[in-house]
Amino acid sequence: MTSADRPGVTASQAGRSAAAAPGEHAPVSPDWTCGSCGADWPCEVKRDRLLSEYGTDRAMLSVYLGSCLAAAAEDLGARGSTTLQERFFGWLPPRPKKE
Ligand SMILES: [Zn+2]
Repeated sequence: MTSADRPGVTASQAGRSAAAAPGEHAPVSPDWTCGSCGADWPCEVKRDRLLSEYGTDRAMLSVYLGSCLAAAAEDLGARGSTTLQERFFGWLPPRPKKE
């Protein structure tokens, strides 16, 4: 188990500004585009970050993405929920198999 090697984003850093900080690649509701690069969230940079942030903890990442998906579905009026699901989960690389 790897433990404390996540990039150091602390609660105080995250809460410093209500708006998305530059380079943060945070979602902007109600459109759920990236606040930094304007792409559909999660954008490529954010995907990379999520993967390295959560590492092997794929369950926690799924919980996080699931809550984002739920919020996005609400904001976007559940416009094509299958598409949304694809957008939030479709980019995840296959889970490494453990035997
Ligand atoms: Zn971005």
